[in-house]
Amino acid sequence: MNQKHGPNWVWLAVGLMIAVVMWLPVWFALTAMFVILFSWFARQLSGSLGGKIDEVMSFGKSRAKLLREDGARVTFEDVAGVEEAKEELLEVIEFLRDPSKFTKLGGRLPKGCLLIGPPGTGKTLLARAVAGEADVPFLSIVGSGFVEMFVGVGASRVRDMFAEAKAHAPCIIFIDELDAIGKSRSALSSHGEQEQTLNQLLAEMDGFETDQGVIIMAATNRPEVLDPALLRAGRFDRHIIVPLPDVNGRKAILEVHARKIQLSDGVNLEVVARSTPGCSGADLASILNEAALFAARRQKKAVDSSDLEMATDKVIMGMERKSLVLSAETKRTTAYHEAGHALVAKFTEGADPVHKVSIIPRGMALGVTQQLPIDDKQAYTKAYLEGQLAILFGGREAEKVFLNQMSTGAANDIEKASEIAQRMVEEWGMSDAVGPIKWSSAFRHSFLGTQIPERVKNYSEETARKIDEEVKRIVSEARNRAENILKERKQEAMLIAEKLLEKETLDGAEIDEIIKTIKG
Ligand code: ADP
Ligand code: MG
Ligand code: ZN
Repeated sequence: MNQKHGPNWVWLAVGLMIAVVMWLPVWFALTAMFVILFSWFARQLSGSLGGKIDEVMSFGKSRAKLLREDGARVTFEDVAGVEEAKEELLEVIEFLRDPSKFTKLGGRLPKGCLLIGPPGTGKTLLARAVAGEADVPFLSIVGSGFVEMFVGVGASRVRDMFAEAKAHAPCIIFIDELDAIGKSRSALSSHGEQEQTLNQLLAEMDGFETDQGVIIMAATNRPEVLDPALLRAGRFDRHIIVPLPDVNGRKAILEVHARKIQLSDGVNLEVVARSTPGCSGADLASILNEAALFAARRQKKAVDSSDLEMATDKVIMGMERKSLVLSAETKRTTAYHEAGHALVAKFTEGADPVHKVSIIPRGMALGVTQQLPIDDKQAYTKAYLEGQLAILFGGREAEKVFLNQMSTGAANDIEKASEIAQRMVEEWGMSDAVGPIKWSSAFRHSFLGTQIPERVKNYSEETARKIDEEVKRIVSEARNRAENILKERKQEAMLIAEKLLEKETLDGAEIDEIIKTIKG
């Protein structure tokens, strides 16, 4: 039976082969058409979905942006007012320019530099400037870019980023806002994904040496929440503080940004620098930008001092709320309140000079009295603080003395005064009755001044009572002092208030004039 069917099989196979060979071109054509169609569809889709397809395809790939600083190359020229930080980073730049110079001698560079400082002080800018100065690629990613809802994705992104960095060495990996992944593991509420990502980062940092030419930089404004493991030797062990600029720093930063702006001849940037204590580089950049916008709106050819003054006020105190219609009574209350602050400030020895008083509402405030420190104080004396307290109470006391009323306008002054008085007693040892002991951690300011709302009591009821008494004493002494000044100089205060109602804003010199007319 088999033999009889044998030849049939052979014919069948031959026939099949012939068929296959004949159809081959057709299949080819079909496959090609299919591929073309599919890729066309994909392009259409990804176009309409804004690159969603690409994103799905590269899931788990690192999100790091590779920047080769070509057009927008940032250098140390563009960063001002943070000289110490720049100095510390010089070594890193040297290394990146020529890694072999360092490794030949067997020296080892720290792998990780952590830039620590308040927002807007130029941490991101500094990191880019390091890459720009060394002329190496810059892989940058924001901490939150690692964290996804799917477990394991972040970890794979970290792995990917390090692989990419090694391929581009010498180069810089920059992790912005490190706290987004580096939160202390105990502080995480067992967020598995974040922990895995962090562990992967730690493992990668341990797994390579700087002789591969990769430097890791990171930035944070919340170093206190970082996992201690990240800060250990061999990881981010080089800490570079990027503080808020002092007056000279502010002037230098303003000069950097003024390069791009047409300033008129009379402009003195030092005045702006002096009137912006506590401002970050980002604030200063936006002051110059706002000033340019103000000038443009008024069709000026160059930015002058009045534009700068308006821009400074807007950035520091918020936009003028010209539309806010206040009753005549509220205006009057505000005028006397601010006149009170100003007058007490004028007659308090050692107080910062009054720069400007205004009853134009801005942001949340109905009026403002601005004092300008002559220098950037790093430490305050007890006498200065007591003066400051008196000035804070000047507003409320003026309302009481001249208008025989109290208003809610003093809420902010009271809050500030209470904090100062409490800290004088509890932290700064400025009360002899209580003694130089740190009594509470009520003001555990974190780096940024965000208070951790917990009050750890480590003292007895008796001490608590003493502390309360002392705080009250300091406050009421300051209040009396303000009251006395105002009562002694009633005429001056009233004249300042009336002038304020008339002109809305007075500067320091104008207030001096008013006081002089009374004396003369
Ligand atoms: P951070 O990362 O510390 O929050 P950035 O580096 O993002 O701050 O700064 C934001 C912007 O503010 C910068 O792009 C720059 O225009 C300006 N700036 C901040 N600090 C400085 C500085 N020290 N010198 C010059 N410009 C600065
Ligand atoms: Mg930043
Ligand atoms: Zn006030």
